[in-house]
Amino acid sequence: MDAHLLPIQEKTLQTHALLNNTYKKLELQSRRTPMHELVSTMLSHRTTHADEVKAYNTMLERFGDWEGVLLAPEEALADAVSTTRYPLQKAPQIQQTLRIIKEERGEINIDFLAELPVEEAMAWLTKLPGVGLKTATLLLLFNFKKPVLPVDTHVFRVSQRVGLIGAKVTADKAHKLLLDMLPKDAVELFNFHKHLFWHGQRVCTWYTPKCEECVLRPICNYYQDVRAKGIDTTPG
Ligand code: SF4
Repeated sequence: MDAHLLPIQEKTLQTHALLNNTYKKLELQSRRTPMHELVSTMLSHRTTHADEVKAYNTMLERFGDWEGVLLAPEEALADAVSTTRYPLQKAPQIQQTLRIIKEERGEINIDFLAELPVEEAMAWLTKLPGVGLKTATLLLLFNFKKPVLPVDTHVFRVSQRVGLIGAKVTADKAHKLLLDMLPKDAVELFNFHKHLFWHGQRVCTWYTPKCEECVLRPICNYYQDVRAKGIDTTPG
């Protein structure tokens, strides 16, 4: 059987193995506190990493701490995060999120999520304004080492081209479909996420995927069905 026609779960595990060999295997260590991760991820929507960091730092320099951010005039907060896209939407979302956390927990701190089962933690996070599946899974995996899989634009694109998920699957649905085919181990899921993210940034890029240098070529639907036959070189 052609490698790209393998059953999807087998193909998913092969993708994981091939990318583990290509990129170094990483340890799972939190890079920032849970509150930092939560607010930074909200700021990062359609924004470069450098601009997100600038907005985060400016916000805390101007308002001191989370209490200060919560009490800041909305326009002043929008101005502080104006290096990001949609600051006028992000400022009230951040304040509403901080308000809900304070009302429910008595303080602006979400460390308690470590003690919750995965489903409960997901449900609690995704009811916060501006927090979708991607943000919630990033936070739960990166900060609390829970076995979930964040699917960002790179993970989604590479998974679709290789054929791990169908062409009509949404990013939200992809979170569960991909997770169901992978080991329920936080370190494995962290590596799968990071490796597909890097691969999407460096090799399987949006406009011109560098198929000729890609280790996933033998199992990739896009390469086998389109590129190798010279049908198209610019995926839509
Ligand atoms: S073979 Fe091409 S389309 Fe397939 S994953 Fe690699 S770079 Fe992307």
